[in-house]
This record gives sequence, C-alpha cells and structure tokens, in this order.
Amino acid sequence: MVSTMVEVDKEKCIGCGSCVALCPDVFELGSDGKAQVKEGADTSKECVKEAAEACPVEAIKV
Ligand code: SF4
Repeated sequence: MVSTMVEVDKEKCIGCGSCVALCPDVFELGSDGKAQVKEGADTSKECVKEAAEACPVEAIKV
C-alpha cells in the first residue's frame, strides 16, 4: 500500500472546512474544530493535493 504522509498543522488550521469539503474521504474536523487526517485514510488520493493548495493558511503538509 502506497500512502503519502499527510499532516495537518493544528496550530495553523483555522477550521474553515475547505479540505473536508474537497476531500471528505481523507480529512475531517476533529472535536477541537480543526482538521485532521482520518484514521486509515488513503492519503494518496488526488484530492489531498487540491486540499493542500486550497487551504488558506497552508496548514496541510503533503
Ligand atoms: S483547509 Fe486548512 S484551515 Fe481549513 S480546515 Fe482544512 S487544514 Fe484547516
């Protein structure tokens, strides 16, 4: 299984939800209102890159 390392910097994340809207299979909003990578998500999905590019505070590291 090929899975790229994807991380959300919770310090930077403002919880806007863009990444979740663009890539709901990989990102979710946690109970802290910040985005996080879903447990066991397939991070090789193309939408991960789109979400990283769309993040207004560049909190997604691919
Ligand atoms: S797009 Fe960026 S700021 Fe918005 S919820 Fe996702 S990680 Fe957080």
